[in-house]
Amino acid sequence: MKILIVEDEPKTGNYLKQGLAEAGFVVDLARAGEDGLHCALSEAYDLVILDVMLPGIDGWTVLQGMRKAGREMPVLFLTARDHVDDRVRGLELGADDYLVKPFAFSELLARVRTLLRRGGRHREPEFLSVADLEVDLMRRRVSRAGKRIDLTAKEFALLELLLRRRGEVLPRSLIASQVWDMNFDSDTNVIEVAVRRLRVKVDEGFEAKLIRTVRGMGYVLEVSECD
Ligand code: CA
Repeated sequence: MKILIVEDEPKTGNYLKQGLAEAGFVVDLARAGEDGLHCALSEAYDLVILDVMLPGIDGWTVLQGMRKAGREMPVLFLTARDHVDDRVRGLELGADDYLVKPFAFSELLARVRTLLRRGGRHREPEFLSVADLEVDLMRRRVSRAGKRIDLTAKEFALLELLLRRRGEVLPRSLIASQVWDMNFDSDTNVIEVAVRRLRVKVDEGFEAKLIRTVRGMGYVLEVSECD
């Protein structure tokens, strides 16, 4: 799942970005209101964490701009302790939750997961499954034929992407941008390695192979009926 953070304080921004990335999310960080709004309107995020006090346009304006453009993903506001009215205004404008600074990261993570579970205005599924593979998106657990599979954060994100778009051949460039948040210009074979590891964990020992390489094109997750 992909999260946008709009926060001008470098320390807080970097700390949140790192923490959420370690928790398995793909995270973009914008350091000014204009940039934040631009990102929110041009990319698909599952959730936005929005600081109120920003240079240039403030958090309110970013939120209004998002909602006006029909972006309905959940928004978690970060407000300063001495601005209690902020939260009222934020909720009136269509924020889904708020957190008063300073806060513990565990608290933020809990709010983020709750908001994602609630799914803002459209509900996201909590479980994805194909054949005997089951993925619990909130608890971040994977099992196949009832047997638990342990994945790294990146492997989980990769599997989630393949599952959400099952049956579609996903080019490496798309996987790079969605899971690693990088361009595919880099000459790394990080994606191949990750897919290989994921495949060992998900498919090895099972007759039906779910993850397939489509030579020269990318990867697809599907239930194959003919091999
Ligand atoms: Ca700020």
